[in-house]
Amino acid sequence: FREWVKEYCKRNGLLTLSVLAVMSGCVVGFTLRSLNLSTQAKIYFSFPGELLMRMLKMLILPLITSSLMSGLSAMDTKASGRLGLLTITYYLWTTFIAVIVGIILVLIIHPGTGIEKEGHKASGGPVMTSADALLDLIRNMIPSNLIEATFQQYKTELVPNFKNSAKSSQANFVYIMPDYENPKMGHPVFLELTPPPEIHYKIVPGKSSGMNVLGIVIFSATMGLLLGRMGSRGSPLVNVCLCINECVMKIINAAMWKNPFSYIRGLLQALVIALATSSSSATLPITMKCLLENCHVDRKIARFVLPVGATINMDGTALYEAVAAIFIAQVNEYELDFGQLVTISITATAASIGAAGIPQAGLVTMVIVLTSVGLPPDDISLIVAIDWILDRFRTMINVLGDALAAGIMAHVCRKDFQKDSQSSSNSERVR
Ligand code: ASP
Repeated sequence: FREWVKEYCKRNGLLTLSVLAVMSGCVVGFTLRSLNLSTQAKIYFSFPGELLMRMLKMLILPLITSSLMSGLSAMDTKASGRLGLLTITYYLWTTFIAVIVGIILVLIIHPGTGIEKEGHKASGGPVMTSADALLDLIRNMIPSNLIEATFQQYKTELVPNFKNSAKSSQANFVYIMPDYENPKMGHPVFLELTPPPEIHYKIVPGKSSGMNVLGIVIFSATMGLLLGRMGSRGSPLVNVCLCINECVMKIINAAMWKNPFSYIRGLLQALVIALATSSSSATLPITMKCLLENCHVDRKIARFVLPVGATINMDGTALYEAVAAIFIAQVNEYELDFGQLVTISITATAASIGAAGIPQAGLVTMVIVLTSVGLPPDDISLIVAIDWILDRFRTMINVLGDALAAGIMAHVCRKDFQKDSQSSSNSERVR
């Protein structure tokens, strides 16, 4: 057995190192946690991880734009139309199936029954609805400024309304500036006071940091399709995209290759990175690499299916949102009828499509699922504390779902692409 393990690790050096790195990260993280380090010390310890995340994020924009533009420009219109339709249909169905599986399991297991909820005062004021999320989704599809879309996305938010809250509760509550230790950076934190202040919220259509991947995907896909139609006039730009794509893949190899062993096989490495980063967008370069190099999925299909999937296909998030909503209902001893379960399955599917591929995005869009069946959005606080770990696992499922979709599309659409691959490999050889 030891020989087998040795041989396996030798053959899959990079994968073994990735798994070991994540495991040692967990051990070191838990040990440091008990030491109560200062904020500054934490920044120093997390610096190598920050560098890796920066490197992965740096690659997302050139990877999406170059792969979609060059990939779609090389497809004939009929083949790309069929692939697009099949992919979107597949994504919707698998997300919906994930939600149904989650609903069935949580109804059988009943994890929320018998849990005592700590008194938490429901807030007054408006609640975010599915319509707000839908508007955000559509706004994000049409970014008004492409440069801005690389670092900001539209997001309607519920923000505390200090004036009303203070007036209604007459309470002096403490507002702590967001800090490094606060996992929901950028949001104010209120200290619990006795009696707890009633916090009022207002809805603000705004923007939040993070790349608007959906807008960039739509823009690049449109450009790719148009370049394809332009024929030889469009080929200079297509060639630029192919070159960028090749360079990005080389950088990914350099970023991920820490050792002299042979290349890894399969998707495991992407899954480990998803577990480590909690972000399907940040994992996208690695998923792409695994699919192209290890799973030998057709380049053009992977270039289309993966970026779209990393944006809209989140089976793990959909499943999580449905399960969490029913859990919250069980904690509140709130009986959900069949119609409400259907509502949860539909809103969880929609909310997962609207969630960005970034850490804890699903937690935010869950407000939509909760409000759709009249559950208190504040009860998200019941799961906030453990969401960081749930997020890692649902991100793995999200990445796995995208990668499987690419494999299935490659199989289903193989006839459409045989002719294409032949001609593009000829032209690549000529180049
Ligand atoms: N972190 C998840 C992802 O990037 C999204 C979520 O929070 O559910 O795929």
